[in-house]
Amino acid sequence: MNADLDAMLSRLHLPTIRRLHTELALRAEEEGMSYRTFLEILCAEEIAHRAETRITRSVRKAKFPFLRTVEEFDFTFQTSVRLKMLGTLLGPDLVSEARSAILSGPPGRGKTHLAVAIAYRAIQNGFEARFTTADELIGTLSAAAAAGHLDPALEPYVHPHVLVLDELGYQSYAPDAANVLYRVVNDRYLKRRPMIVTTNKPLAALGQLLHDGDLAEAILDRLLERGTHFVLRGRSYRTRHLKTEVTSDSDAA
Ligand code: ADP
Ligand code: MG
Repeated sequence: MNADLDAMLSRLHLPTIRRLHTELALRAEEEGMSYRTFLEILCAEEIAHRAETRITRSVRKAKFPFLRTVEEFDFTFQTSVRLKMLGTLLGPDLVSEARSAILSGPPGRGKTHLAVAIAYRAIQNGFEARFTTADELIGTLSAAAAAGHLDPALEPYVHPHVLVLDELGYQSYAPDAANVLYRVVNDRYLKRRPMIVTTNKPLAALGQLLHDGDLAEAILDRLLERGTHFVLRGRSYRTRHLKTEVTSDSDAA
């Protein structure tokens, strides 16, 4: 009988129930558990396990450089962005309302951390996310465009519910960078899919970086139509340990 049950649970793709039912049945007998509670516990375990597996798989697919959460972000450390300001980016509205965000500021202020954390939260909310650097995206798409295969190459950047584009403006780009970047931004805009962009440059410098002021403006327009620009200010978290040294240096001077 038991062997049949296990075979049926396999066939129904219920591996967690299959793993747990024998032990839970013993406990149920000991505790006089109702049939209904017994069934509820097994179903809840199966669902919880599935959600976990999906998150693990989605995080792997997202290609984050590191995994950081909003809970790990010390909002008292930098001076400009508060947890409350991120509000709509951390719920389902990020995707349903296509709330893009641009995070700008000098290095070490937590731009990549926050971008990853927002995308991770989206994964927890049931969406798919993809992380890429501007460098990688522009390099990949420029090469694809030169080879005449731009459309299929756009897919991995256009398809996910949330795209993180990290480190825009860390270097100056080839002449066609503005075109391929615009394609991604516009395709996502038309599908109402949000992007989280980080940059160490003021937004006004984007035109020069991309060698095309009009396209840079079109890109920013689309990102900010329903999106928000956050400027991270304050000390660098990366070099926070240098604080005392700097103080003692200036004391000595
Ligand atoms: P940026 O992208 O702005 O250069 P990162 O997001 O890479 O900076 O942050 C550098 C490191 O410092 C990361 O390990 C990140 O987790 C950490 N960090 C930065 N800001 C904070 C913060 N406010 N609270 C906690 N960790 C932070
Ligand atoms: Mg960064």
